[in-house]
Amino acid sequence: MKKVVKFGGSSLASSEQFKKVGKIIRADESRMFVVPSAPGKRFSNDTKVTDMLYSCYGAAIREKKFVEQLDEIHARYQEIIDGLGLTLSLEKDFEIIRENFSKKIGRDYAASRGEYLNGKVMAAYLGFEFIDAAEVIRFHDDHTFDEDATNVLLAERLKDSKGAVIPGFYGAAENGTVVTFSRGGSDVTGSLVALAVKADLYENWTDVSGFLIADPRIVKNPKSIETITYKELRELSYMGASVLHEDAIFPVRKAGIPINIRNTNAPEDKGTLIVEGTCRQPKYTITGIAGTDGFASVTIEKAMMNSEIGFCRKVLQVFEDNDISIEHMPSGIDTMTIFVHKDEFEEKEQQVLAGIHKTINPDHIELESDLALIAIVGRGMRATRGTAGRIFSALAHAHINVKMIDQGSSELNIIVGVRHDDFKNAIRALYEIFVVTQI
Ligand code: ASP
Repeated sequence: MKKVVKFGGSSLASSEQFKKVGKIIRADESRMFVVPSAPGKRFSNDTKVTDMLYSCYGAAIREKKFVEQLDEIHARYQEIIDGLGLTLSLEKDFEIIRENFSKKIGRDYAASRGEYLNGKVMAAYLGFEFIDAAEVIRFHDDHTFDEDATNVLLAERLKDSKGAVIPGFYGAAENGTVVTFSRGGSDVTGSLVALAVKADLYENWTDVSGFLIADPRIVKNPKSIETITYKELRELSYMGASVLHEDAIFPVRKAGIPINIRNTNAPEDKGTLIVEGTCRQPKYTITGIAGTDGFASVTIEKAMMNSEIGFCRKVLQVFEDNDISIEHMPSGIDTMTIFVHKDEFEEKEQQVLAGIHKTINPDHIELESDLALIAIVGRGMRATRGTAGRIFSALAHAHINVKMIDQGSSELNIIVGVRHDDFKNAIRALYEIFVVTQI
């Protein structure tokens, strides 16, 4: 059995956190490949080391004093090293970083040092081998990710390893330039390592016990999700639920490796298992509820539009020409509605309207803003009658007017559009009916 374990920044923010991580790794000898993030926040208004590095490098390229800031970062690591009782010295590493910052070597290089140094500390603490991600995570010279080369390099390098630390978030192009993934990218590294070593499980350790059925900022103490499929997760993440970097899903999904989201501060909790498929029915009819605010809708009316060939294409072309992505498109007999992100649309609103008038000569166009979309997601819906009925009666009881309904043909989700002011109450009403009263 082989496991890849990735630890997020809050799991590695201090020596106390490192000790919890060490205990977790030592408790299971199949936890052989460790992917650390940079130290995160120790308390709510603390600064993540990655952000400190960005700001320090920002000073360096503006030719302002940056050495003090770098010393502060060094102190963060030293505190961890001392707390763990290690003899490791990062003096030389910081010297090199200081020189490279003076040479303005690159923003990605700067940010990557957070993971690089934390990887060194972690390897020393565990007695594992340290592998610089620049040697095994490969980017093309245009800085796009090179999936094939990475897989070969990682597999080769790790094939005989019994315990290795590979820092997350970065790699390097063939010419040696350090390149990072987007923020939160250590999740991606973990997934790539899991694919390369053909791991049985990818454990992603963070500070929550998995995904929650609903956003805890809206619903008080929501229950967590025990098992979720990749498809369900995709639907929920699209609507704003986020625990994991989106690009972390693809490599492990392709190889059928499950991801287990676990809590470093509560290792006894089982967390959430993300799988390709499962015959385990979810505890509730729905797996999760997620929503996003900030949509606008454009409703176009034209008599006999359904018999006009190419009508939809022409409308969509107008949005494409204005570089606006379309989120949803429910339609009626003589109407179609396009949901777009309000921020993206607002600036180009008049061009879009003029374009629609010109190309399809509508009878009427109506605009609405301040809309929210809520997705009710669950593989259990397929086998249960009356889910839609329950959704709408819950919303009706909460005096919420439904502006739009969209059920995907997979029967995996139902999306409803409501007014911004009803957004939170709608989510609470849905949680109440599906989870609290469990009918
Ligand atoms: N340290 C990086 C960030 O703060 C990457 C990561 O934590 O995954 O985004």
